[in-house]
Amino acid sequence: MDLELKQVEQRLPMLFEKNRLASFKSWKFNDRSKCSAKKLAEAGFYYAGTPDEPDGVQCFLCNKALDGWEKEDNPWDEHISHSKNCEFAKLRLPEAKLTTDRFLQFCLEMVLVQSKNYVTKVVESNKKEFSQKYTAKKKTLNGIRKK
Ligand SMILES: [Zn+2]
Repeated sequence: MDLELKQVEQRLPMLFEKNRLASFKSWKFNDRSKCSAKKLAEAGFYYAGTPDEPDGVQCFLCNKALDGWEKEDNPWDEHISHSKNCEFAKLRLPEAKLTTDRFLQFCLEMVLVQSKNYVTKVVESNKKEFSQKYTAKKKTLNGIRKK
């Protein structure tokens, strides 16, 4: 499988809030905190910690990676202030409040963002194929007309 598709395969489940929440095996703040795993998952983040950044998280849509969380941080506020163009952060709605249309839009956008180069490749090769077929058809048609 193409490397980019592999990434899509890994990230796609993170579209769902419950999978984002499940990615936090343990978290430094409890559920009553403003910055709980639940609140982070709601705001679009899944766990992406490393030994250097053990509290690293990443947005499923814009891929913004953030760490250094403090107990009083509001995940939605941090999200929009570090990623102004993220459609999910702009909307600021938990999954349960999203319409199906919106949700599917995010789903498509996510696949496009994660596999941008792959999608471009597919579109380019389709274009080439189309123009070859078109040229072949045109030749056939010209041949018919000449008869
Ligand atoms: Zn985002």
